[in-house]
Amino acid sequence: MPRSSVTTKRGGSTKRPVKKVATKKTTRKKTPIKKASAVLIKQASKKVQKTDGIKRNPLGHLLLEKMLREAGFRGGISTKKELLEAYSYDESIFSVRPQVVIQPKNRKDVEIATSVVAEQTKRFSSLSLTPRAAGTGLGGGSLTDSIVIDVCAHLNKIGDIVEKKDKIIFTCEPGAMWKNVEKKLKEHNAYLPPYPASKDICSVGGSVANNAAGPDSLRHGHCADWVESMDVVLHDGHTYTIKPLTLREFKMLIKQDHEYARIAKQIFELISKNEKEIKKNKPETKKNSAGYPLWSVMPQGIAKFKKGEGTFDLTRLISGSQGTVGIITNLTMRALPIPKNTTLIAIPIFNLEDAADSIVKALKFNPINVEVFDSLTFDLALQNPSFFKDRLSTSMYYKVMLSMYTTYHVRFRRKTPEFTVLVTLDEETTNRTEPFTISQKISSGKVKARVVSSPVESEMYWQIRRASYTLSKFQDTSKRPAAFLEDMTVPPENLSKFFIKIKALLKEFNVTAAVHGHGGNGHFHFYPLLDFTNKTTPALVEKMAEKFFSTAVKFHGNICGEHNDGIIRTPHLNKMFTNKMLDLFKQAEHLFDPDDIFNPGKKVNPRFDIKETIRTKN
Ligand SMILES: Cc1cc2nc3c(=O)[nH]c(=O)nc-3n(C[C@H](O)[C@H](O)[C@H](O)COP(=O)(O)OP(=O)(O)OC[C@H]3O[C@@H](n4cnc5c(N)ncnc54)[C@H](O)[C@@H]3O)c2cc1C
Repeated sequence: MPRSSVTTKRGGSTKRPVKKVATKKTTRKKTPIKKASAVLIKQASKKVQKTDGIKRNPLGHLLLEKMLREAGFRGGISTKKELLEAYSYDESIFSVRPQVVIQPKNRKDVEIATSVVAEQTKRFSSLSLTPRAAGTGLGGGSLTDSIVIDVCAHLNKIGDIVEKKDKIIFTCEPGAMWKNVEKKLKEHNAYLPPYPASKDICSVGGSVANNAAGPDSLRHGHCADWVESMDVVLHDGHTYTIKPLTLREFKMLIKQDHEYARIAKQIFELISKNEKEIKKNKPETKKNSAGYPLWSVMPQGIAKFKKGEGTFDLTRLISGSQGTVGIITNLTMRALPIPKNTTLIAIPIFNLEDAADSIVKALKFNPINVEVFDSLTFDLALQNPSFFKDRLSTSMYYKVMLSMYTTYHVRFRRKTPEFTVLVTLDEETTNRTEPFTISQKISSGKVKARVVSSPVESEMYWQIRRASYTLSKFQDTSKRPAAFLEDMTVPPENLSKFFIKIKALLKEFNVTAAVHGHGGNGHFHFYPLLDFTNKTTPALVEKMAEKFFSTAVKFHGNICGEHNDGIIRTPHLNKMFTNKMLDLFKQAEHLFDPDDIFNPGKKVNPRFDIKETIRTKN
């Protein structure tokens, strides 16, 4: 299904490029590559002297189209100015201009592009391939100064949904949009549980490559937990189907003579030799997408695997690798039946110190999700009712608004709670214990948890929670809610203390930030409002990142719960991991990608200077 245009339900369009690059079949008048070279080389060589951190060697890029076509690449290739400009942005605070954008028509094209770049990188060391799906990432993962390989343009097919005895399975190409997969799954009463809040604008492949997560991840984990198998083009330009392997399958694989076999064998050896260090570095939080999760490849331990227990699972390492170890061309994933008859409990928290206790109590009832938004988010919803107009039918809009104002004026007596906590329970839980009893057990002192029996009130809370990020833009439309502190996670029991400290830090930096997130996982999204046209902003971002990230780690948390490392967090991974572990990440990446052709500078070997790379428009 060809991609046409993309808008978001969040009240605006993403910066994602929507144009299709002309493919080989289209007759195009184009300046011959040779003719363009001299001028471009001259221009680009000026840049080499200007930018220190990032190498810009245009020569390989100028020859790329010729090299790709000769190798049989059929998809689109473009160096059009406006296209390069569009691909210079994702939803992060960064901007990096690529040299070329390619849009593979099929898997073969991905293999060709990989082979050509792997071969040519020996001559032109700055050539590399950075996969891009819907480009909604918040860390700059899909940005590059070399070649963008856009998988959304053509690689977006969704296969059949197969209902087996105990599971629901579907396949899709990486560029399949999440909302389209969701629609198809809904026909089977099924859903993909780790859905991110961006599910209306992101793809499934980009989500797996980021190891994205969402509200239901409290119970159902990250995207990686739902991968059955994946087809991946590795650095040798061949596609391999990668899936969890039993000991017998693993032994059979490593006898074979190809790159996947070599990599599997060497990753096994790397983990075996460093098992203790890897275990020591496993983040304490339930959610994490920082680093390469070497601890998840054989979570049962080497000794047990050698006895035939569990599996050796490289999909765990490739999920969340941000395109740094290979390019995913197909996914087989599991889905679940949509939960029926769920119950919502709302907990207004007027005193921040009560937040952790209430959430920890709610967690005892095995909720599907525990979500939070702060007083500023609620206030912004109250102040901007028209924002919800497009999101609801007319009658529902008025009902939801009435519910919002009644809740504020009558129930909360015109005082917005510091936090509103939403707890979703499933049928199984509420069949065992009455919802009212559960709400009583969560309540204590001034905290009054309440079963929300009205579907309109429930819709009102979820509308605010889902709109949290977009609502934060209304604080000051001349600024941008900046995604760089948005992914810190702490164990839920530390949540109150952590949040109080974060509030103090925001005050110290004289910055406001609306907050929402996945309370059950102690996972908060802070989006400070910053003006990126202001020259002092890059230095401020650097200072704040340093201080806030260190604080999260001090509270036994991490800096990257679900949005992945990208440009922003890669240089800060030393706060979470030992130097030895960082070296193991490097070794793992190198085993997959010896010539560093896949998305260099992300996850390991940071090469983008944060201050230099920060966008200059809001
Ligand atoms: C409003 C908003 C809300 C969000 N909410 C959430 C949330 O709740 N949870 C969450 O986890 N994230 C969230 N995000 C971040 C982002 O939307 C998700 O991480 C999303 O899953 C990324 O998908 P994408 O298709 O846009 O991928 P992209 O941003 O295009 O790519 C993501 C990464 O994957 C790599 N990649 C892409 N395709 C491939 C491939 N075929 N093979 C290998 N690597 C590949 C890219 O190089 C990049 O590093 C949010 C973003 C916004 C703007």
